[in-house]
Amino acid sequence: MARRIRAAHLPGTKSLESFAFAFQPSLSERLIQELGTLGFLQTATNIVLLGPPGVGKTHLALALTARTLEAGYSARFTTLRQLADELETTSWRQQRRRYLTPRLLVIDEVGYLRLTPSQAQQLFDLVTARYEQAPMILTSNRSFAEWGTLLGDDVLATALLDRLLHHAEVIPITGPSYRMKDRRLPGSPEASAPAETRSGKEGESR
Ligand code: ADP
Ligand code: MG
Repeated sequence: MARRIRAAHLPGTKSLESFAFAFQPSLSERLIQELGTLGFLQTATNIVLLGPPGVGKTHLALALTARTLEAGYSARFTTLRQLADELETTSWRQQRRRYLTPRLLVIDEVGYLRLTPSQAQQLFDLVTARYEQAPMILTSNRSFAEWGTLLGDDVLATALLDRLLHHAEVIPITGPSYRMKDRRLPGSPEASAPAETRSGKEGESR
């Protein structure tokens, strides 16, 4: 278990138990709890968490990864930035070990980085290799319509999304940022601050 946790490279520890579903009514607690029973590992169903910063995408990805590790499966957590770098700089053998062998692969923060043509092709190859074999959890602040721009290639983006979404649970989260919740109390100065100021501040963090 300790070895599996180390190999997963988790950036933190989060659980479904510590997620306040009451704060995020757009999210179906029933669906998330159902995913927590890990059926998606058996069916190789991908999970795509979509929404603006602070709504809990990374928290949920980490919580589902924790469940996966507790159940005895391997997992690997990465961000798109880290993955894109490593796909270009590491050997095929190493990539295979890191990103194909784990039962669950999490790619966090799809959307903060525009990929080069070669990175986009490598990501496509990865999605294709895992397709119907082993699931991925992706988080993104971009709608699927914007993935063409992200990958710099509309045709490739369409083919990637076709595979990614064939067996997938797409979960849009439309609520407020949990990070900003204490600043939104009525009467606090930030509560009346213009939206640009708030999103500007939030843009700094992940
Ligand atoms: P995102 O990845 O969508 O930007 P995070 O998952 O990083 O957001 O959430 C930001 C912070 O707020 C984290 O510390 C996370 O644990 C916490 N958080 C977000 N939503 C909730 C929630 N509904 N209940 C409890 N903590 C939450
Ligand atoms: Mg995040």
